[in-house]
Amino acid sequence: MFRELLHAALDLAFPPRQVCPLCGVDSPKGAVCSECAALLAGYANERACPCCGSYPGSGNSGVNLIYPGHPVLCPDCRSGRPFELARAVGPYEEPLRDAVHQLKYYRTRGLARPMAVLMAETFRSEAAYSGTRGLVPVPLHPARERWRGFNQAVLLARALGEITGVPVLERAVARIRETPPQTGLTRYERLRNLEEAFRVQKSEQITGKIITIVDDVFTTGSTVSILSQQLRQAGATGVMVLTFAIARQTGRS
Ligand SMILES: [Zn+2]
Ligand SMILES: [Zn+2]
Repeated sequence: MFRELLHAALDLAFPPRQVCPLCGVDSPKGAVCSECAALLAGYANERACPCCGSYPGSGNSGVNLIYPGHPVLCPDCRSGRPFELARAVGPYEEPLRDAVHQLKYYRTRGLARPMAVLMAETFRSEAAYSGTRGLVPVPLHPARERWRGFNQAVLLARALGEITGVPVLERAVARIRETPPQTGLTRYERLRNLEEAFRVQKSEQITGKIITIVDDVFTTGSTVSILSQQLRQAGATGVMVLTFAIARQTGRS
């Protein structure tokens, strides 16, 4: 509570700058600038994986050779996913990557709202999300959250909840095991690390509902896959994923 009051006071003393939330150029009312808006529109025209929404990397056109004109499932989705669908505002590269870094590492909490505004557009443009009855931010281990001072997924989910009116189930799932950094590990090692990382502690909030998991970045999808399985075991009737950015397919294992 004190923290929140402090941040409100800081916002009054140092009002958020009128800049584009993605690239930081001066922009009236802090709206997305025209250059970034054009980039976002361009992503919508890329052939993304119809299941996880990831964009093809270099050397992969995403063109379906058997059914030209139809999108093709990415390698990870071909072997099956425990969630129905995942979408992001755009690929994890400039300028979206900058916004994620500003929020997460430079602790620019004020960015959560404009980022969630963009996520809300994605949420509303995909009919599959319309049945969502609860938003579940990917939890951080309490030790990690204390160290960072906040969980960026929670900040995004709260703002998204305010915009869309969907309840945020912040305490439904807990992270009970700290997972070591996942970079440089194979897919199998990552999955093994993530097993038993989460525990649904309020299954009554989950049972019988379509849940949308919220996070900042979808990298390989291992984290949200494990969480999806746990939510299904707790009785969720459907699990969707919404992140701010998603890694391109190249280099994903
Ligand atoms: Zn911009
Ligand atoms: Zn996919």
